[in-house]
Amino acid sequence: METIKSKINERSCAMELRLEHLVKDFSGTKAVNDVSITIQDGKLTGLLGPSGCGKSTTLYLISGLESPTSGRIFFGNRDVTALPPEKRGIGLVFQNYALYPHLTVEQNIAFPLVNHKEGKEEIRRRTLEMARLVQIEDLLKRKPGKLSGGQQQRVAIARALVKRPDILLLDEPLSNLDARLRLEMREEIRRIQTETGVTTVFVTHDQEEAMSITDEIVLMRTGVVQQQCPPQQMYLNPANRFVAGFLGNPPINFFRLDVCGGTVCLAEDYMLRVRGAADGPVLVGIRPEAWRLGQGLRTAAEAVEMRGKDLLVTFSLAGERARAILDITAGVAAGDAVELTLEPRLVYFFDPETGARLDAEVAG
Ligand code: ATP
Repeated sequence: METIKSKINERSCAMELRLEHLVKDFSGTKAVNDVSITIQDGKLTGLLGPSGCGKSTTLYLISGLESPTSGRIFFGNRDVTALPPEKRGIGLVFQNYALYPHLTVEQNIAFPLVNHKEGKEEIRRRTLEMARLVQIEDLLKRKPGKLSGGQQQRVAIARALVKRPDILLLDEPLSNLDARLRLEMREEIRRIQTETGVTTVFVTHDQEEAMSITDEIVLMRTGVVQQQCPPQQMYLNPANRFVAGFLGNPPINFFRLDVCGGTVCLAEDYMLRVRGAADGPVLVGIRPEAWRLGQGLRTAAEAVEMRGKDLLVTFSLAGERARAILDITAGVAAGDAVELTLEPRLVYFFDPETGARLDAEVAG
């Protein structure tokens, strides 16, 4: 493991990636709108967000396939803003693999080295090393058409890494795979990234994918970064309503309520005491897993669905449909009366107009 790590990084040192006030304007549409972020050296960072939020454009700007309207891009201390892709020291992997169909797996992986006029022995050694890393050494003589989607993606990753890039860029690399292969390949990407230690940026619209394998997530919306931090932190401490709503499956439930004398009334006989919120309208976000059976809110289960070992219980709250994830041992069926209590750390307060997170919490 150490060997591959040191070889991949032979010509790179700490390769942090820094974007400074990056803007990409497509005739009036700001696909990337003043993005300033630092992506840590040696980490796997997920660029996450809904369709059209600007994550692919950000990746293309990092790669040099697109030029920014304004702003700067640094790889370590090197300003690469004006450099073409081939001079940046990047490895790129796209969702459609983009392998050469007439070349064998071995020739596909070796292609960048042949292009670079490396020596025959060196090409052979590094091609084998990469094939071993992505675990396809027994497929070297096959053509891409005879490989599964997952195997093709492994070849594409090997080809991107064989040049020993400073930064590996992956654009929705798993979206053409079926559900089972996606799970397998996302673990593989994590393993390969950990073994090589190469700074990696991974674009995805799939929050579960991002949360499961990344060290850090950059969550974007309409060209603007909403929050950047490790996945657990983002889930437990969302910066605003959008972040809270984007992460989580089943999603968080929001309720438009009023703070009155330091309390929020969720039902006639169920109130929460709130610390830090002024009287007035507020948007309350409650994660489904915040609820558990216990003394508190008396309600009725309107629908109950099994989700693996959990129960997804739907009930009415403050005029809205609410969801609770309960352990299967709760033994709740549709139509049952239930009494639920809340974990205060999974209840959030937002400004109902701007969606900004309020510095408020459930007291006691
Ligand atoms: P998806 O997940 O659907 O690929 P994305 O988050 O990667 O979306 P981008 O592809 O970066 O989003 O697009 C961001 C915005 O910029 C969108 O509004 C898109 O229509 C626009 N856009 C992207 N590329 C171009 C282009 N070449 N010309 C004009 N507009 C573009």
